[in-house]
Amino acid sequence: MSVPFIDLKSQYNALKSNIDARIQKVLDSGAYINGPEVAELEQKLAAHTGSKYCLAVASGTDALVIPLMALGIGQGDEVITTAFSFIATAETIVLAGATPVYVDIDPKTFNIDPKKIEAAITPKTKAIMPVSLYGQVADMEEINAIAKKHNLFVIEDTAQSYGAKYKDKKSGALTTAAGTSFYPAKPLGCYGDGGAIFTNDENLNKIMKEIREHGSEKRYYHTRLGVNGRLDTIQCAILLAKLERYDWEVEARNKIATNFSTSFAGLEKVDPMFSTPLVKQGNQSVWAQYTVTVTNRDAFQKKCQELGVPTTVHYPMTMPDQPWYAKNTPQRHDITHARWAAQHVISLPMFPDMTAEQQAKVIAAVKTAVEFSVKA
Ligand SMILES: *Cc1c(COP(=O)(O)O)cnc(C)c1O
Repeated sequence: MSVPFIDLKSQYNALKSNIDARIQKVLDSGAYINGPEVAELEQKLAAHTGSKYCLAVASGTDALVIPLMALGIGQGDEVITTAFSFIATAETIVLAGATPVYVDIDPKTFNIDPKKIEAAITPKTKAIMPVSLYGQVADMEEINAIAKKHNLFVIEDTAQSYGAKYKDKKSGALTTAAGTSFYPAKPLGCYGDGGAIFTNDENLNKIMKEIREHGSEKRYYHTRLGVNGRLDTIQCAILLAKLERYDWEVEARNKIATNFSTSFAGLEKVDPMFSTPLVKQGNQSVWAQYTVTVTNRDAFQKKCQELGVPTTVHYPMTMPDQPWYAKNTPQRHDITHARWAAQHVISLPMFPDMTAEQQAKVIAAVKTAVEFSVKA
Protein backbone atom coordinates (compact mmCIF):
# COMPACT_ATOMS: atom_id res chain seq x y z
CA MET A 1 0.00 0.00 0.00
CA SER A 2 1.22 3.45 -0.90
CA VAL A 3 1.58 6.04 1.80
CA PRO A 4 -0.89 8.89 1.16
CA PHE A 5 0.70 12.31 0.61
CA ILE A 6 -1.76 13.66 3.16
CA ASP A 7 -4.43 11.61 4.93
CA LEU A 8 -7.45 13.75 5.76
CA LYS A 9 -9.72 10.73 6.20
CA SER A 10 -7.90 9.29 9.21
CA GLN A 11 -8.07 12.74 10.80
CA TYR A 12 -11.80 12.91 10.13
CA ASN A 13 -12.30 9.45 11.63
CA ALA A 14 -10.49 10.53 14.79
CA LEU A 15 -12.82 13.53 15.16
CA LYS A 16 -15.95 12.12 13.51
CA SER A 17 -18.43 12.26 16.41
CA ASN A 18 -17.42 15.81 17.35
CA ILE A 19 -17.49 17.10 13.75
CA ASP A 20 -20.73 15.34 12.84
CA ALA A 21 -22.53 16.63 15.95
CA ARG A 22 -21.38 20.19 15.30
CA ILE A 23 -22.44 20.08 11.64
CA GLN A 24 -25.83 18.62 12.59
CA LYS A 25 -26.34 21.43 15.09
CA VAL A 26 -25.79 24.04 12.36
CA LEU A 27 -28.09 22.16 9.98
CA ASP A 28 -30.82 22.12 12.62
CA SER A 29 -30.32 25.78 13.52
CA GLY A 30 -30.84 27.23 10.05
CA ALA A 31 -28.18 29.89 10.73
CA TYR A 32 -26.00 28.93 7.78
CA ILE A 33 -24.39 32.37 7.42
CA ASN A 34 -23.20 34.39 10.44
CA GLY A 35 -24.35 31.72 12.91
CA PRO A 36 -22.99 31.76 16.49
CA GLU A 37 -20.15 29.36 15.54
CA VAL A 38 -18.53 32.16 13.50
CA ALA A 39 -17.96 34.46 16.47
CA GLU A 40 -17.02 31.50 18.67
CA LEU A 41 -14.37 30.40 16.20
CA GLU A 42 -13.04 33.95 15.83
CA GLN A 43 -12.64 34.28 19.59
CA LYS A 44 -10.90 30.92 19.87
CA LEU A 45 -8.53 31.58 16.96
CA ALA A 46 -7.65 35.02 18.34
CA ALA A 47 -6.91 33.51 21.75
CA HIS A 48 -4.93 30.65 20.20
CA THR A 49 -2.66 32.96 18.17
CA GLY A 50 -2.44 35.67 20.83
CA SER A 51 -3.91 38.18 18.41
CA LYS A 52 -6.47 40.74 19.60
CA TYR A 53 -8.88 40.35 16.68
CA CYS A 54 -9.77 37.64 14.21
CA LEU A 55 -12.16 37.62 11.26
CA ALA A 56 -13.17 34.34 9.61
CA VAL A 57 -13.24 34.74 5.82
CA ALA A 58 -14.07 32.69 2.74
CA SER A 59 -10.50 31.78 1.69
CA GLY A 60 -6.83 32.46 2.30
CA THR A 61 -6.91 34.64 -0.80
CA ASP A 62 -9.64 36.85 0.73
CA ALA A 63 -7.62 36.87 3.96
CA LEU A 64 -4.83 38.69 2.11
CA VAL A 65 -6.88 40.85 -0.29
CA ILE A 66 -9.06 42.31 2.48
CA PRO A 67 -6.15 43.69 4.61
CA LEU A 68 -4.58 45.21 1.48
CA MET A 69 -7.89 46.91 0.61
CA ALA A 70 -8.43 48.04 4.20
CA LEU A 71 -4.97 49.61 4.36
CA GLY A 72 -5.75 51.59 1.19
CA ILE A 73 -3.09 49.80 -0.84
CA GLY A 74 -3.86 49.89 -4.55
CA GLN A 75 -3.13 51.62 -7.85
CA GLY A 76 0.39 53.04 -8.02
CA ASP A 77 1.56 51.30 -4.85
CA GLU A 78 4.19 48.60 -4.50
CA VAL A 79 4.21 45.68 -2.10
CA ILE A 80 7.46 43.82 -1.45
CA THR A 81 7.09 40.07 -1.26
CA THR A 82 9.06 36.86 -1.72
CA ALA A 83 9.66 35.44 -5.20
CA PHE A 84 8.98 31.92 -3.93
CA SER A 85 5.44 31.11 -2.79
CA PHE A 86 2.10 29.79 -3.94
CA ILE A 87 0.78 32.17 -6.60
CA ALA A 88 -2.03 33.50 -4.37
CA THR A 89 0.51 35.71 -2.57
CA ALA A 90 1.34 37.78 -5.66
CA GLU A 91 -2.19 37.43 -6.99
CA THR A 92 -3.72 39.22 -4.00
CA ILE A 93 -1.36 42.17 -4.43
CA VAL A 94 -2.38 42.48 -8.09
CA LEU A 95 -6.09 42.04 -7.24
CA ALA A 96 -5.78 44.97 -4.82
CA GLY A 97 -4.44 47.02 -7.74
CA ALA A 98 -0.84 47.25 -6.54
CA THR A 99 2.43 45.90 -7.97
CA PRO A 100 4.31 43.00 -6.36
CA VAL A 101 8.06 43.57 -6.08
CA TYR A 102 9.80 40.24 -5.68
CA VAL A 103 12.75 39.67 -3.36
CA ASP A 104 14.99 36.59 -3.26
CA ILE A 105 14.88 33.96 -0.51
CA ASP A 106 17.25 32.58 2.06
CA PRO A 107 17.97 29.18 0.44
CA LYS A 108 18.18 27.53 3.87
CA THR A 109 14.65 28.42 5.05
CA PHE A 110 13.02 29.28 1.68
CA ASN A 111 11.61 32.44 3.29
CA ILE A 112 12.24 36.01 2.07
CA ASP A 113 15.81 37.15 2.77
CA PRO A 114 15.44 40.23 4.98
CA LYS A 115 18.89 41.48 3.95
CA LYS A 116 17.60 41.98 0.41
CA ILE A 117 14.46 43.94 1.28
CA GLU A 118 15.83 47.47 1.67
CA ALA A 119 17.28 47.50 -1.85
CA ALA A 120 13.77 46.86 -3.18
CA ILE A 121 12.11 49.78 -1.36
CA THR A 122 11.07 52.76 -3.52
CA PRO A 123 8.95 55.87 -2.79
CA LYS A 124 5.96 53.80 -3.97
CA THR A 125 6.46 50.97 -1.47
CA LYS A 126 3.56 50.74 0.99
CA ALA A 127 3.91 47.31 2.55
CA ILE A 128 5.92 44.12 2.92
CA MET A 129 4.11 40.78 2.55
CA PRO A 130 6.39 38.03 3.85
CA VAL A 131 5.24 34.43 3.55
CA SER A 132 5.87 31.97 6.37
CA LEU A 133 6.52 29.13 3.95
CA TYR A 134 6.22 25.41 4.71
CA GLY A 135 5.11 26.20 8.29
CA GLN A 136 8.01 28.31 9.56
CA VAL A 137 7.60 32.03 10.35
CA ALA A 138 9.80 34.34 8.25
CA ASP A 139 12.47 36.52 9.93
CA MET A 140 9.82 38.82 11.34
CA GLU A 141 11.99 40.82 13.76
CA GLU A 142 14.27 41.96 10.93
CA ILE A 143 11.30 42.54 8.60
CA ASN A 144 9.38 44.56 11.20
CA ALA A 145 12.47 46.68 11.92
CA ILE A 146 12.84 47.54 8.21
CA ALA A 147 9.12 48.31 7.99
CA LYS A 148 9.29 50.59 10.99
CA LYS A 149 12.29 52.47 9.61
CA HIS A 150 10.56 53.06 6.26
CA ASN A 151 7.02 53.47 7.60
CA LEU A 152 5.59 50.41 5.85
CA PHE A 153 2.80 48.00 6.76
CA VAL A 154 3.59 44.31 7.19
CA ILE A 155 1.05 41.66 6.19
CA GLU A 156 2.14 38.12 7.02
CA ASP A 157 0.92 35.40 4.66
CA THR A 158 0.32 32.69 7.26
CA ALA A 159 -1.54 30.31 4.93
CA GLN A 160 1.02 27.60 5.76
CA SER A 161 1.97 28.63 9.29
CA TYR A 162 -1.17 28.81 11.44
CA GLY A 163 -0.04 28.12 15.02
CA ALA A 164 3.69 28.32 14.31
CA LYS A 165 5.78 29.81 17.10
CA TYR A 166 8.21 32.68 16.66
CA LYS A 167 10.17 33.43 19.85
CA ASP A 168 7.47 34.01 22.49
CA LYS A 169 4.74 34.81 19.97
CA LYS A 170 2.75 33.05 17.29
CA SER A 171 2.36 33.46 13.56
CA GLY A 172 -0.41 35.93 12.82
CA ALA A 173 0.16 38.07 15.91
CA LEU A 174 3.45 39.60 14.76
CA THR A 175 2.48 42.18 12.13
CA THR A 176 0.01 44.90 11.09
CA ALA A 177 -2.27 42.16 9.81
CA ALA A 178 -1.99 38.52 8.76
CA GLY A 179 -4.02 36.20 6.60
CA THR A 180 -4.28 32.43 6.86
CA SER A 181 -5.99 29.69 4.83
CA PHE A 182 -8.16 26.77 5.93
CA TYR A 183 -7.98 24.99 2.58
CA PRO A 184 -8.32 21.28 3.51
CA ALA A 185 -4.63 20.41 3.01
CA LYS A 186 -3.31 23.34 5.10
CA PRO A 187 -2.13 22.56 8.65
CA LEU A 188 -5.52 23.69 10.02
CA GLY A 189 -8.02 22.90 7.28
CA CYS A 190 -11.80 22.92 6.96
CA TYR A 191 -13.90 20.89 4.51
CA GLY A 192 -14.03 23.46 1.75
CA ASP A 193 -12.42 26.86 1.28
CA GLY A 194 -11.85 29.11 4.24
CA GLY A 195 -9.45 31.52 5.88
CA ALA A 196 -8.97 34.05 8.67
CA ILE A 197 -7.47 37.49 9.18
CA PHE A 198 -5.65 38.57 12.33
CA THR A 199 -4.76 42.01 13.66
CA ASN A 200 -4.17 43.86 16.91
CA ASP A 201 -5.51 47.13 15.47
CA GLU A 202 -9.13 47.81 16.44
CA ASN A 203 -9.80 50.34 13.69
CA LEU A 204 -8.25 48.17 10.97
CA ASN A 205 -10.34 45.24 12.21
CA LYS A 206 -13.51 47.33 11.93
CA ILE A 207 -12.68 48.32 8.35
CA MET A 208 -11.83 44.73 7.38
CA LYS A 209 -15.08 43.49 8.90
CA GLU A 210 -17.03 45.96 6.77
CA ILE A 211 -15.12 44.97 3.62
CA ARG A 212 -15.90 41.31 4.34
CA GLU A 213 -19.61 42.20 4.23
CA HIS A 214 -19.81 44.16 0.95
CA GLY A 215 -18.38 47.30 2.54
CA SER A 216 -21.36 47.81 4.81
CA GLU A 217 -21.42 49.47 8.21
CA LYS A 218 -24.96 48.22 8.64
CA ARG A 219 -27.35 46.28 6.45
CA TYR A 220 -27.97 47.87 3.02
CA TYR A 221 -25.72 50.86 3.80
CA HIS A 222 -22.42 50.66 1.90
CA THR A 223 -19.72 53.15 2.80
CA ARG A 224 -16.81 51.43 1.05
CA LEU A 225 -16.00 48.93 -1.67
CA GLY A 226 -16.17 45.42 -0.27
CA VAL A 227 -16.45 41.77 -1.19
CA ASN A 228 -18.51 38.77 -0.12
CA GLY A 229 -15.81 37.37 2.12
CA ARG A 230 -17.72 35.56 4.86
CA LEU A 231 -16.89 32.05 6.05
CA ASP A 232 -20.04 29.94 6.34
CA THR A 233 -21.20 28.59 9.69
CA ILE A 234 -20.69 24.90 8.86
CA GLN A 235 -16.99 25.46 8.08
CA CYS A 236 -16.61 27.34 11.37
CA ALA A 237 -18.23 24.42 13.22
CA ILE A 238 -15.79 21.98 11.60
CA LEU A 239 -12.85 24.20 12.51
CA LEU A 240 -14.02 24.41 16.14
CA ALA A 241 -13.81 20.61 16.35
CA LYS A 242 -10.45 20.48 14.58
CA LEU A 243 -8.96 23.22 16.76
CA GLU A 244 -9.44 21.02 19.85
CA ARG A 245 -6.86 18.58 18.47
CA TYR A 246 -4.63 21.08 16.70
CA ASP A 247 -1.87 21.47 19.31
CA TRP A 248 -1.55 17.69 19.48
CA GLU A 249 -1.31 17.59 15.69
CA VAL A 250 1.49 20.17 15.66
CA GLU A 251 3.40 18.07 18.20
CA ALA A 252 2.81 14.96 16.08
CA ARG A 253 4.04 16.72 12.94
CA ASN A 254 7.15 17.88 14.80
CA LYS A 255 7.91 14.34 15.95
CA ILE A 256 7.58 13.02 12.40
CA ALA A 257 9.81 15.81 11.07
CA THR A 258 12.45 15.02 13.71
CA ASN A 259 12.30 11.33 12.82
CA PHE A 260 12.73 12.17 9.12
CA SER A 261 15.63 14.57 9.64
CA THR A 262 17.46 12.23 12.03
CA SER A 263 17.04 9.32 9.64
CA PHE A 264 18.25 11.33 6.64
CA ALA A 265 21.52 12.37 8.33
CA GLY A 266 24.46 11.64 6.04
CA LEU A 267 22.50 11.63 2.78
CA GLU A 268 24.32 14.82 1.78
CA LYS A 269 27.38 12.59 1.36
CA VAL A 270 25.48 10.70 -1.34
CA ASP A 271 23.93 13.77 -2.98
CA PRO A 272 25.77 17.02 -2.16
CA MET A 273 22.57 18.98 -2.83
CA PHE A 274 20.52 16.92 -0.41
CA SER A 275 19.26 18.94 2.53
CA THR A 276 16.65 18.53 5.24
CA PRO A 277 14.58 21.53 6.40
CA LEU A 278 16.32 24.03 8.68
CA VAL A 279 14.19 25.38 11.52
CA LYS A 280 15.79 28.48 12.97
CA GLN A 281 16.44 28.91 16.68
CA GLY A 282 13.36 30.34 18.38
CA ASN A 283 10.99 28.96 15.73
CA GLN A 284 8.61 26.05 15.93
CA SER A 285 7.33 24.99 12.53
CA VAL A 286 3.86 23.54 11.99
CA TRP A 287 5.22 21.55 9.02
CA ALA A 288 2.72 22.44 6.35
CA GLN A 289 5.33 20.70 4.22
CA TYR A 290 8.44 18.67 4.93
CA THR A 291 10.57 19.76 1.99
CA VAL A 292 14.02 18.47 1.04
CA THR A 293 16.32 19.43 -1.84
CA VAL A 294 17.95 17.03 -4.30
CA THR A 295 20.09 17.33 -7.43
CA ASN A 296 18.07 15.18 -9.84
CA ARG A 297 14.51 15.83 -8.78
CA ASP A 298 12.74 14.03 -11.62
CA ALA A 299 14.65 10.79 -11.06
CA PHE A 300 14.19 11.08 -7.29
CA GLN A 301 10.44 11.65 -7.62
CA LYS A 302 9.98 8.76 -10.04
CA LYS A 303 11.82 6.34 -7.77
CA CYS A 304 9.83 7.42 -4.70
CA GLN A 305 6.60 6.92 -6.64
CA GLU A 306 7.69 3.40 -7.68
CA LEU A 307 8.31 2.65 -4.02
CA GLY A 308 4.81 3.78 -3.05
CA VAL A 309 5.75 7.21 -1.72
CA PRO A 310 4.09 10.16 -3.46
CA THR A 311 5.85 13.54 -3.43
CA THR A 312 4.89 17.06 -4.56
CA VAL A 313 6.87 20.05 -5.75
CA HIS A 314 6.06 23.27 -3.89
CA TYR A 315 6.69 25.10 -6.26
CA PRO A 316 8.10 24.27 -9.68
CA MET A 317 8.34 27.95 -10.72
CA THR A 318 8.93 31.22 -8.92
CA MET A 319 5.93 33.56 -8.95
CA PRO A 320 7.51 36.14 -11.32
CA ASP A 321 8.39 33.34 -13.76
CA GLN A 322 4.74 32.25 -14.11
CA PRO A 323 3.55 33.26 -17.58
CA TRP A 324 1.00 35.95 -16.62
CA TYR A 325 3.27 37.39 -13.95
CA ALA A 326 6.38 37.43 -16.16
CA LYS A 327 4.41 39.56 -18.60
CA ASN A 328 2.63 41.83 -16.14
CA THR A 329 4.78 41.95 -13.00
CA PRO A 330 8.32 41.06 -14.09
CA GLN A 331 10.94 40.71 -11.40
CA ARG A 332 13.32 43.64 -10.89
CA HIS A 333 15.75 42.11 -8.48
CA ASP A 334 18.01 39.08 -8.49
CA ILE A 335 16.06 35.92 -7.56
CA THR A 336 18.79 33.32 -8.08
CA HIS A 337 18.06 31.38 -4.88
CA ALA A 338 14.32 31.29 -5.55
CA ARG A 339 14.96 29.91 -9.04
CA TRP A 340 17.36 27.33 -7.62
CA ALA A 341 14.71 26.26 -5.09
CA ALA A 342 12.09 25.93 -7.83
CA GLN A 343 14.39 23.40 -9.52
CA HIS A 344 15.41 21.37 -6.48
CA VAL A 345 12.76 21.34 -3.73
CA ILE A 346 10.51 18.34 -3.19
CA SER A 347 7.98 17.72 -0.40
CA LEU A 348 7.46 14.35 1.29
CA PRO A 349 4.25 12.98 2.81
CA MET A 350 3.42 14.82 6.05
CA PHE A 351 0.29 14.52 8.17
CA PRO A 352 -0.20 14.15 11.92
CA ASP A 353 -1.72 10.66 11.81
CA MET A 354 1.20 9.11 9.89
CA THR A 355 1.92 5.71 11.44
CA ALA A 356 5.39 4.44 12.38
CA GLU A 357 5.20 1.98 9.45
CA GLN A 358 4.31 4.75 7.03
CA GLN A 359 7.18 6.89 8.32
CA ALA A 360 9.58 3.94 7.92
CA LYS A 361 8.37 3.45 4.36
CA VAL A 362 8.97 7.12 3.49
CA ILE A 363 12.45 7.03 5.05
CA ALA A 364 13.47 3.85 3.21
CA ALA A 365 12.13 5.18 -0.11
CA VAL A 366 13.96 8.50 0.24
CA LYS A 367 17.27 6.78 1.00
CA THR A 368 16.91 4.47 -2.00
CA ALA A 369 15.75 7.31 -4.28
CA VAL A 370 18.68 9.55 -3.30
CA GLU A 371 21.16 6.77 -4.13
CA PHE A 372 19.31 6.06 -7.38
CA SER A 373 18.91 9.67 -8.49
CA VAL A 374 22.60 10.61 -8.27
CA LYS A 375 23.42 7.80 -10.72
CA ALA A 376 20.48 8.55 -13.03
C1 LIG B 1 -2.86 28.26 0.17
C2 LIG B 1 -2.13 29.53 0.12
C3 LIG B 1 -2.76 30.77 -0.10
C4 LIG B 1 -4.18 30.89 -0.53
O1 LIG B 1 -5.12 30.27 0.27
P1 LIG B 1 -6.54 29.81 -0.35
O2 LIG B 1 -7.31 29.43 0.86
O3 LIG B 1 -6.27 28.66 -1.26
O4 LIG B 1 -7.14 30.97 -1.07
C5 LIG B 1 -2.00 31.92 -0.01
N1 LIG B 1 -0.69 31.88 0.25
C6 LIG B 1 -0.04 30.72 0.45
C7 LIG B 1 1.42 30.76 0.78
C8 LIG B 1 -0.72 29.51 0.38
O5 LIG B 1 -0.06 28.36 0.58
